[in-house]
Amino acid sequence: MYRHLWADYLCPVQKIGILGGGQLGRMLLQAAANYPVETYVLENDADCPAAHLCHHFSKGDIKDFNTVYHFGQSLDAITIEIENVNIDALEMLEKEGKKIFPRPSVLKTIKNKILQKEYYQRFQIPSSAFVVTHNLHELKQQENFLPAVHKIAEGGYDGKGVQVLKTAEELTNGFDAPSILEKMVDIKKEVAQMIAVDANGNTALYPPVEMIFDPVLNLLDYQLCPAALETKVLWKVEAIALAVARNFNSPGLFAVELFIDRNDNVWVNETAPRVHNSGHHTIEAHYCSQFDMLWRIMLGYPLGNTKAILPSVMVNIIGAEGFQGHVVYEGLEEVLQIENAFVHIYGKKETKPGRKMGHVTIISAEKQELIHQSNKVKRLLKVRS
Ligand code: ADP
Repeated sequence: MYRHLWADYLCPVQKIGILGGGQLGRMLLQAAANYPVETYVLENDADCPAAHLCHHFSKGDIKDFNTVYHFGQSLDAITIEIENVNIDALEMLEKEGKKIFPRPSVLKTIKNKILQKEYYQRFQIPSSAFVVTHNLHELKQQENFLPAVHKIAEGGYDGKGVQVLKTAEELTNGFDAPSILEKMVDIKKEVAQMIAVDANGNTALYPPVEMIFDPVLNLLDYQLCPAALETKVLWKVEAIALAVARNFNSPGLFAVELFIDRNDNVWVNETAPRVHNSGHHTIEAHYCSQFDMLWRIMLGYPLGNTKAILPSVMVNIIGAEGFQGHVVYEGLEEVLQIENAFVHIYGKKETKPGRKMGHVTIISAEKQELIHQSNKVKRLLKVRS
């Protein structure tokens, strides 16, 4: 008995919960297996990607106050894998002494694009000029602000909730709901900068990644690390992303998405206060993965080494157009024969067009090899039903 208590004192096993059970939760749990932690997941779908990797699964609505509040009461700490959760319950839990990563105040700011843009403005963080529109009628008055991008304040994701408006006629394509209308940036490159912040305010930056988008689906096509940036641009990216993360006054992991325009100005697009699609390559290509890093932060351990072991490319495996239903992976065997490729299948039973079903990371010292193999993966691997 005495020995047991002493062991607990030396290495207490913390109880940590995750709101949401998608692929981010799943990969977080894969990393949790290395630490003294007991894991809990709250999610409505009992067959979700994270359901079978946690110690304790609770079926329930992450948007419901009572469900989230009761889920959190027996835990030491909580994190999220999606922003659309019941923030009021998290605030209450925080008041009662639970550690929340990131703090609920950050989630409030980020969940609503109007508040998020106002945050950048308040801290003089470069982000393209914007106006708030509450409905379609207000949007139609903004002809002089075009060309611009209309973004719904809440509920948009993966390009849904974003509308490019170039001409006055296109204004009717906008959202009849609270939104921001943001000046169009003449984008040369899109990058993402991951930053880790621990409870003492120490920070660690990963090398930024460069994102290449599928123009049809508006989804990430592949992502290269490190981004090819001139040193002076890299410095701007790092400084701006640090300002974004530091002013939140919260420990956690932050993915800051930025645009680099034709004049090498750097603008913040948006921030995710959590593990993120733009950090998947860190599992194999970096000493400390983004998932490992978040456990270090939550458990109070030192921040990990963010350096790359080798450059990498990450390709999302996306549900093919025209296929919906029970998933089959065509070409998986061929991809598994690529020596420097790492395959992640998220375990989602059903595919639909555009759904993120997995990813593949390729590592190599040669950029040509990275591009060559990622094109091969995209050619070979098809998600069908
Ligand atoms: P989501 O959160 O749904 O991914 P984003 O705000 O990231 O939406 O926008 C999706 C894409 O739209 C961006 O990756 C970018 O290519 C384009 N976009 C967004 N805002 C602007 C802007 N101000 N100027 C030009 N293109 C933009």
